[in-house]
Amino acid sequence: MSAPSIRPIRTGPIVTDLLSFHDPFDRVSVLLPLPLDAAYDYKADTALALERGDVVEVPLGQRRMIGVVLGPGGDESVPEERLRAVIRRLDTPRLPKTVIDLVDWTAAWTLAPRGAVVRMAISTPSAFEPPVPSVVHTARPEADWIGQARLTPARRRVLSVLADGPALDQKDLTREAGVGPSLIKGMIESGMIEPHTVAPAPPFAVPDGTRDGPVLTGEQRVAAAALAGRVTADAFSVTAVDGITGSGKTEVYFEAIAAALAAGKQALVLLPEIALSAEWLERFEDRFGVEPAVWHSDLKPRVRRETWRAVAEGTVRVLVGARSALFLPFTELGLIVVDEEHESAYKQEDGVAYHARDMAVVRARLEGIPIALVSATPSLETVENVRQGRYGAVHLTARPGSATLPEVALIDLRRHGPERGTFLSPPLVAAIQRTLDEGEQAMLFLNRRGYAPLTLCRSCGHRLECPNCTAWLVEHRLLGRLVCHHCGFSGRLPKRCPSCEAEDSFVASGPGVERLAEEVLTRFPDARFQLASSDTLTGPDKAAEFVRAVRAREIDIVIGTQVVAKGHNFPWLTLVGVVDADLGLAGGDLRASERTYQLLHQVAGRAGRAERPGRVLLQTHAPETPVMQALAAGDRDAFLDSEIQQRKAAGMPPYGRLAGIVISAPDAERADAAARTVARAAPRLNGVDILGPAPAPITMLRGRHRRRLLVKTGRQVNIQQVLRDWLSPIKLETSVRLQVDVDPYSFM
Ligand code: ADP
Ligand code: ZN
Repeated sequence: MSAPSIRPIRTGPIVTDLLSFHDPFDRVSVLLPLPLDAAYDYKADTALALERGDVVEVPLGQRRMIGVVLGPGGDESVPEERLRAVIRRLDTPRLPKTVIDLVDWTAAWTLAPRGAVVRMAISTPSAFEPPVPSVVHTARPEADWIGQARLTPARRRVLSVLADGPALDQKDLTREAGVGPSLIKGMIESGMIEPHTVAPAPPFAVPDGTRDGPVLTGEQRVAAAALAGRVTADAFSVTAVDGITGSGKTEVYFEAIAAALAAGKQALVLLPEIALSAEWLERFEDRFGVEPAVWHSDLKPRVRRETWRAVAEGTVRVLVGARSALFLPFTELGLIVVDEEHESAYKQEDGVAYHARDMAVVRARLEGIPIALVSATPSLETVENVRQGRYGAVHLTARPGSATLPEVALIDLRRHGPERGTFLSPPLVAAIQRTLDEGEQAMLFLNRRGYAPLTLCRSCGHRLECPNCTAWLVEHRLLGRLVCHHCGFSGRLPKRCPSCEAEDSFVASGPGVERLAEEVLTRFPDARFQLASSDTLTGPDKAAEFVRAVRAREIDIVIGTQVVAKGHNFPWLTLVGVVDADLGLAGGDLRASERTYQLLHQVAGRAGRAERPGRVLLQTHAPETPVMQALAAGDRDAFLDSEIQQRKAAGMPPYGRLAGIVISAPDAERADAAARTVARAAPRLNGVDILGPAPAPITMLRGRHRRRLLVKTGRQVNIQQVLRDWLSPIKLETSVRLQVDVDPYSFM
């Protein structure tokens, strides 16, 4: 910064403004990570040479904030003399143009304020400071300082610590010698010890794409070559990698990653549940010799900072991450892979309601690069895009080697129901027994955490509900508590029924995995079983230990929720019993059948992955439904056809557009009043149907009363424009919240 031409005559905060108020300056537009759509104009010293994507610190009211320069300022309504000045440009690579374009795109698509979206792109403020080099200390020869410095007992301790061990940084040195930092400083000044700056170790090794993977089968080779060809073509394309579980989809996209590495490009792999992917990381390391960089919400701050910077600087070549990795500042991206692309976990429900798969396709288009959407059960959206020729596809139809697909059979609970108070039907019990007799493993799948989903009073029928939500409390017997799965409320089982005062009258209704474990213990007392849910596999270490124990055959029966549905290869697991196959169909939202098919198909894929053939038994009350029939027959196309028929007939996505509007308020009156205001302003347009307002299925959530509207339009209608025209003029009370969800996945 050049010297100011105005000499400061006063002290105090105003001086900063005077200092930076000199000609010439640039007027720049800065987007701040606040729930606002607008960017603000600031002035900046021309010497800063600010450009789109630069990260800057600016004043806002009494605060200082970090924001992103969008370009030259354009808000002429703010006169020059009222403009405040950019405080500084942060020492960090600028955000690539594609990331800023992606922010704009995501905001326009989801109707979220741009500031809320940019917040996801600059969620790691510490990454914007230059990395702090670590400083270590060594002792200087006594001859250098003897006679000039005093040797106190404390100083002696420091020297002896350094004499016995390696060079230490200040933190370790003060701790080990039991001295304060000022003593260290004094010793440096008097030449007794010497500080050395050490460059931080390069944290991200480069994956080696030239190592050999397994010898691919014929169809794998074809698929891998097609995908790698797309990488070398270096242009936007979408390819569905559609192959049965265990057919080698991962091996195939590893080949594409190798192609990206060979072309000097970065690769991004999105996974739905990073926490459980220890196995994925291991496979990556086997193939490429090093671990990839990882990105998810639980990263330690230091790792987060280093990773962000290394992505921007290009030292990270391959990164695997959860959905938020999509907003990382890759500058040489050459490939995006979305694994398990059908997973609804890619849809973020809170804050910016975006679908990471869809926005990943947008980023690939902005980058002009290929993207692969990988699944054994592709989403209907992807299937339709392939059928219409908008997306390409590669297919994998066989499991390599001798591994076969499991045989799936239905157990009709109307005819073979379990005994009262139990949940395993006689045919399933018999199958488990046979499996154990063979020395093999069984898995019981029930997508319900806890002991029982409902607790009710035997004498009056009162049901225990969450005080903050329209939801039953779920008993977690291992914790000794009743828990709300929506807001986290928890309490003890009351001694007396709050409704009829009867004592000890509560009974559990329906099974959760804990209750199932009780039944397993009674029926198979000698079997070693393990509960696997988000309550028991609470982190990557526990999950890895679980996988190891199953592989080592230290467990005979796994009782699991959806955390066991994905990805693991358990060679001795030959039986999967689905306790309540109809569970996901209840509630009947748009994608209930699709999701049930995907989940159960995936669970079924756990059985018989190696040489031993697998068997899958689905307990159902509705064996005649297309989902159950398709699962039993292994006929995915039949299921897709019936599902497509229904969606087309109803004009539902992907054959029409939907948006949900949720209005919530601290009390029912205000929620109703706001819902009426919104409904009254609703447009009357051809091809636009508006349903509601009505109380949301979860009428109360975390103490807020909720009303819902659903907007349904034809495919050609610009639903975002309809919503903007309708909603932006509406002013609601500050206690009322209005959330828009374009293409909703949750209808609760
Ligand atoms: P998917 O991703 O389709 O479920 P994977 O890529 O995980 O399938 O492959 C399933 C298992 O088969 C893995 O253990 C993998 O290493 C192995 N596998 C896949 N292809 C081959 C091959 N050509 N040769 C040997 N093993 C293979
Ligand atoms: Zn609750």
